[in-house]
Amino acid sequence: MRSSRYGASIRKQVDKAMESKDRRHECPKCRKLALKRKSNAVWVCKSCGAKLAGATYSFESKTGQLAKRNITEYSTKA
Ligand SMILES: [Zn+2]
Repeated sequence: MRSSRYGASIRKQVDKAMESKDRRHECPKCRKLALKRKSNAVWVCKSCGAKLAGATYSFESKTGQLAKRNITEYSTKA
């Protein structure tokens, strides 16, 4: 079932997000493709049991990557 009814580009974005949500992602701890979405932005690794905070519909988002980069940049400066 589709959650967005109007607009082809919006529908495509929704399809992409839904696909990413159901897909398994790579676990940053054990590097296995076993990360599954548990709830909103909560990802649990089926292999090592790690519980991680990610983005809502995928484990990593562009904003998240930028934030991560900024954090490492500032923490190495201090
Ligand atoms: Zn893992």
